[in-house]
Amino acid sequence: MKYRSSRGGVSGIGFREAVMMGLATDGGLLIPHEIPDVKDKLGSWTSLTFQELAVNIMAEYIDDIPAEDLATLVDKSYARFDHEKITPVVQVSDFYVLELFHGPTLAFKDIALQFLGNVFEYILEEEQGHLNILGATSGDTGSAAIESIRGKSNINIFILFPEGKTSPVQEAQMTTVLDANVFNIAVEGSFDDCQSLMKTIFSDLSFKQEYELGAVNSVNWTRLLAQIVYYFFAWYELGKPETFDVSVPTGNFGNIFAGYLARRMGLPINKLILATNRNDILARFFETGVYQKGEVCFSESPAMDIQVSSNFERYLYYKLDGSCEKVAEFMGGFLQKGMARLDFNTRGFDESFMAGSVGDSETLGTIRDIYEQEDYLVDPHTAVCISVGSRLRTPETPLLCLSTAHPAKFENAISRAVPGLASHHERLEALAGLPTRKEKMGAEVDLVQAFIRQYGLH
Ligand SMILES: *Cc1c(COP(=O)(O)O)cnc(C)c1O
Repeated sequence: MKYRSSRGGVSGIGFREAVMMGLATDGGLLIPHEIPDVKDKLGSWTSLTFQELAVNIMAEYIDDIPAEDLATLVDKSYARFDHEKITPVVQVSDFYVLELFHGPTLAFKDIALQFLGNVFEYILEEEQGHLNILGATSGDTGSAAIESIRGKSNINIFILFPEGKTSPVQEAQMTTVLDANVFNIAVEGSFDDCQSLMKTIFSDLSFKQEYELGAVNSVNWTRLLAQIVYYFFAWYELGKPETFDVSVPTGNFGNIFAGYLARRMGLPINKLILATNRNDILARFFETGVYQKGEVCFSESPAMDIQVSSNFERYLYYKLDGSCEKVAEFMGGFLQKGMARLDFNTRGFDESFMAGSVGDSETLGTIRDIYEQEDYLVDPHTAVCISVGSRLRTPETPLLCLSTAHPAKFENAISRAVPGLASHHERLEALAGLPTRKEKMGAEVDLVQAFIRQYGLH
């Protein structure tokens, strides 16, 4: 399989090159030249383990890593999950929940990032290269990035987070990792400061090149690839229904785009239900065709407090019939005016999607209702997913809701939803009292660059 950019400036590159490139060099996003049709293989994949299924699906998109090496990478990536099925399906009331939170940091990002870290290490070893990963987090996703890189050869990771502005559990999940290749930088400033530091440093091209700076953000094709797998796995776990709806709590459009690919590969998904919180730019787009940026508002489901979704352009590429010029025009217009429009009348609404959003009080209400009626506790992102999914589902059709985090990660929201209730997880409790390491730093580019000069691989 070869990969190309959604903007047309890159094409014909292999999987390995696509992994190392991350964002396409022309500013677009990398996509496979074609989407393989696996309908005829679905029968023969019945009763495979998650890992076996992963190898089969990934091999459709990877032809420059030998099959046995790919199997080793997959096994390594899911060895730290605490459920033998990796992503089990449970029935709750009249719908099903796909639990994606059994990885090391209890969030669905582990599924893709654990694999990406191993693929990076594998490629760097063969090519005798090295990489310094730089990332910024408001608290929630930094630990998944750190856990994917800790202890790996030829890769260091530097994570910027706003000092004192992450929850104690979030900070502990990052700073208790003492591996020599992990550097937590506590920035005296806001999350915006962290992000702008990162952007400035990445735009210093000579520095970026000298230190082989890389990212593990959600535009990397490898992350999408790893996420396709659980859509298929869930279908087998459901007993291969003729068709089913899937509801997905959406922020950067990575998770649901993997579902879109699974559907185009031949998995019989009826509707992909896009669920958002009040940051509803995507929900509005799927209703009206207008893609218009608003102000980011803070919600009970912070991993979805996003206005501009970094993976949306991949979808746009397919929606605009693979025309790179039209993609560039749409995205250029959006960048300039904060708004762009797809004409649904001539183009037709996308029958694969439905979309909706919910506010915080309904989110907390959903947590409470499901807990009281079903004795099942969900985190706020999953609650958004269930709430919108239940509203938009197709009658007589199984509904699968993707659960993206363990409730214990969001204890404040849980106690607001059900006063007096606490959610526990032994992995989080085990962090209490462990030694920690972090470097406090002023929000200045020079300081961060000097730190990377000192501790980065080169
Ligand atoms: C990242 C994240 C999401 C959003 O997923 P996208 O792929 O960005 O759409 C939802 N829930 C949780 C808990 C997350 O960490």
